[in-house]
Amino acid sequence: MRKKFVAGNWKMNMLGKEAGQLARGVAGGVASVTDEVDVVLAPPFTALRIVAEAIEGTGIRLGAQDVFWEERGPYTGEISPAMLVDAGCEWVIIGHSERRNVLHETDAMVRKKIDAALAEGLRVIVCVGETLEEKEGGETVTVVDGQVESALSGLEIRDPSRLVIAYEPIWAIGTGHNATPEEAEFVHATIREIAGKILGGVADRIRIVYGGSVTEDNITELLAEPDIDGALVGGASLRADAMTSIVLKAGE
Ligand code: PEP
Repeated sequence: MRKKFVAGNWKMNMLGKEAGQLARGVAGGVASVTDEVDVVLAPPFTALRIVAEAIEGTGIRLGAQDVFWEERGPYTGEISPAMLVDAGCEWVIIGHSERRNVLHETDAMVRKKIDAALAEGLRVIVCVGETLEEKEGGETVTVVDGQVESALSGLEIRDPSRLVIAYEPIWAIGTGHNATPEEAEFVHATIREIAGKILGGVADRIRIVYGGSVTEDNITELLAEPDIDGALVGGASLRADAMTSIVLKAGE
């Protein structure tokens, strides 16, 4: 049985004070289920310390939204894995579609980030997903397979709790049009099969979570599918009541 996993990706939102308030609001609401659900909050870099303080001792874990693969040096604006650990992070999101599409991150860059993060002891949420054009062209499986293969080939994962794969169809992110549970389950099952070919039996214990317009109204039906182990939540994670409700429903 895989433990449910819900992460909030706050993206480029929240100044320090409101970040602390939001984190405290979520922490207060989800305290009863943090044994059943892994809960991660991923604020922007500038709010990491404030959120770390707000969630201390609550069972909620801190995540970052990105990381660079080098340890130190002349990389203006970048943040190393060790810096994230130093700021209190246990998790990091890698390869979010907004980074792939807006910042032109390639599969190769995503892979370097995964290697560097795992080497530093961080836990990784790696995002994959197809565009609307790719979906309409019937290429979903080809695209997602390619991203998963590039992210995982040659990786040795002994502890399955250290890696989460987030299937985030790009057409569903921030649009209010989530994938149906059946659509998402089909892709999740495919991802598990490919992960199994690459990583072996451990793939059965890796969490594969869905992201794309998840709300308190659709989480339950998504989680009813056998290969959907949780959610990466964007917009709804900016409201303490919505995030709390999603986590509580995941814990049911
Ligand atoms: C995301 O950006 O990871 C995401 C899933 O966003 P939203 O929930 O707003 O679609």
